[in-house]
Amino acid sequence: MENNPKIKRIGVLTSGGDAPGMNAAIRSVVRSAAARNIQVLGIRRGYNGLINGDVTEMNARSVNGLTSRGGTMLCTARCDEFRYEEGQQRAANACRYLGIQGLIAIGGDGTFRGLRDLSKFGVQTCGIPATIDNDIASTDYTLGFDTACNTAVEAIDKLADTMQSHERISVVEVMGRHAGHLALYVGIATGAAAILVPEHPFDFEQDIIERIREGRIAGKNHFIVIVAEGVGHASAIADKIAAETGIDTRVTIMGHIQRGGSPSARDRVMATRMGHYAVDCLLEEKSNIVVCYKNAQMIDMNIDEALSMTKCLNENMYDMVKDISK
Ligand code: ATP
Repeated sequence: MENNPKIKRIGVLTSGGDAPGMNAAIRSVVRSAAARNIQVLGIRRGYNGLINGDVTEMNARSVNGLTSRGGTMLCTARCDEFRYEEGQQRAANACRYLGIQGLIAIGGDGTFRGLRDLSKFGVQTCGIPATIDNDIASTDYTLGFDTACNTAVEAIDKLADTMQSHERISVVEVMGRHAGHLALYVGIATGAAAILVPEHPFDFEQDIIERIREGRIAGKNHFIVIVAEGVGHASAIADKIAAETGIDTRVTIMGHIQRGGSPSARDRVMATRMGHYAVDCLLEEKSNIVVCYKNAQMIDMNIDEALSMTKCLNENMYDMVKDISK
């Protein structure tokens, strides 16, 4: 790719909740830029670092071995100041002072709103989707989702062993305040008897108790119920199940363990591809865009358009569970 003479230095930051694969994306941005003789400044703690000039020079060697590391070496944060015009103006001034012509931010929808606002101040901006919830509508995939699924599945497999030994029910809460993609994938992968997601109201008797009763009649001796955190208190659901079935029922809250760990091969590869694509987009003078993975292709989309979209749960997969979980 021909170098865009306007771009000599870019910034990269991670923002919002962390997700496995953020480091691999940083590495890819730095190396893709270095290959085109473009300097990279790493910005620490999301938009806070931009406003406060908390930056570090990066080169191909400073990202050695980063692909396999969870978390984000640049740290991530939420920055309230940046939500307002004054904060955005300060960030744009910092970009000018630091000689940053283009900014790549790795994060979720909120992070992209920030990029959209910053682009109005003349900074070229590009987002890379990263959240374990996979709830960004413009893209089929967000960094971290595969690793988070695998982390939860591995832990639930262990739980299932002990639930089987003691003939118990396990209610497992996974992350997902507004979206059930993670719960759905984890539930299917672990053979859950019921999967509760925020997108669907559930009937306690029909969607949980009846399935457990049917399973017992069919000879099952232990059950897994997956609850996305947005559905409600897993412990209250567990108490109710125990009262209705008379079966010892235990609760496990997965919590932040799902956000950590070495990224899966899929997350490493996707992060590398998205990072490389983002640098190419800036060199093509594109701005106010987000990198999206659509129909097995990398594309870019205007941030306003991306933010106006709504992601639905895969209803075919959701319906399939009724047949498979018996
Ligand atoms: P997650 O999926 O973890 O929620 P996110 O990127 O959506 O990731 P947010 O906390 O919503 O996380 O946003 C991250 C940061 O982006 C905020 O702290 C703020 O600095 C900036 N941001 C969010 N919304 C806006 C907005 N409307 N305008 C400007 N900046 C915003």
